[in-house]
Amino acid sequence: MENLIIIGGGPAGLAAAIYAARAELNPLVIEGAVPGGQLMLTTEVENYPGFVKGVLGPELMQGFRSQAERFNTRFLGGSVKKITRAKNIIITLASGEELEAKSIIIATGADARWLNLESEQRLRGKGVSACATCDGFFFKNKTVAIVGGGDTAMEEANFLTRFATEVYLINRSEKFRASVIMQQRTLKNPKIKVIYHAVVEEVLGEAKVEGLKLRISGEKTETLTIGGLFVAIGHSPATAFLKDSGVALDSKGYIYTSFRAAGELAQGLKPPSGFNFSYQYQTSLPGVFAAGDCVDYRYRQATVASGMGVAAELEVQEYLENL
Ligand code: NDP
Repeated sequence: MENLIIIGGGPAGLAAAIYAARAELNPLVIEGAVPGGQLMLTTEVENYPGFVKGVLGPELMQGFRSQAERFNTRFLGGSVKKITRAKNIIITLASGEELEAKSIIIATGADARWLNLESEQRLRGKGVSACATCDGFFFKNKTVAIVGGGDTAMEEANFLTRFATEVYLINRSEKFRASVIMQQRTLKNPKIKVIYHAVVEEVLGEAKVEGLKLRISGEKTETLTIGGLFVAIGHSPATAFLKDSGVALDSKGYIYTSFRAAGELAQGLKPPSGFNFSYQYQTSLPGVFAAGDCVDYRYRQATVASGMGVAAELEVQEYLENL
């Protein structure tokens, strides 16, 4: 019987592990297929507080892991197939092995959705990015393009105008999915040019991004000279294993915590029921907490994820004391 099992070895999971290990809960972290999470696929991280000169993503995550290990966190490879709430919480691994815990923190993260072009994948980190907040600064005085028509694309397009000379917003239809206020702000911004009915066919450039080949209205092709491409077509939270578990998810698969449910109630919306509002990071299942990008559809920052991991762990301590 474990006190606490943490599912996920990214910033949220490992920050929770550091706190849990120092609180002598003897936590077990199930690391998943890609230990370290999305930062393992990043190069330079310049916005993680405390690293004045920046740090490489994998180096930062190795630091998180070593710090958790220093206080005797235990790690297990492999992925989780399902969780079941019985008297305690049963975690079934893909291998069939079952683990039992009094509490768990789900910190399985999310993956950015990509266009799935060979040229896009080849140039990731060389001018192709899925996070303007993280990488926008590297594109000072350059022309960049952003793909997508949702709130993220619009928010990031506006953010990018602080650095870039010109921002092309590439939308595959004439309709946007973003909120009206974001559309208005975007269309009013003189540095943003919208290209409608456009699909990226190829990212041009060998060692770095130099341009885009676009197909307009399914007919003519057009070449755009740019120095950077941001893909903002949504994220997929890694929560498929929670189907039928009793953990409430939203329509896109993000985990509901009490915090979000309370916020929605305050706005007169109808979130799922079953929450204990004493714990902000608890899900709709008692003893099951969640943190990081599998919860946070909005900010998606390593700094935010690690803070959420810490908050969830502090609530786990209280939950275990009250058991
Ligand atoms: P969304 O799912 O809302 O939008 C995705 C966008 O990408 C759509 O315009 C979609 O086009 C386009 N798209 C999807 N696949 C492709 C593709 N293969 N090629 C080209 N375009 C594609 O994702 P977001 O990340 O923008 O937002 C996620 C959620 O987070 C939303 O609920 C949003 O409101 C919320 N959010 C809220 C913010 C805030 O409140 N400040 C900030 C950011 C996000 P199409 O419409 O044609 O399918």
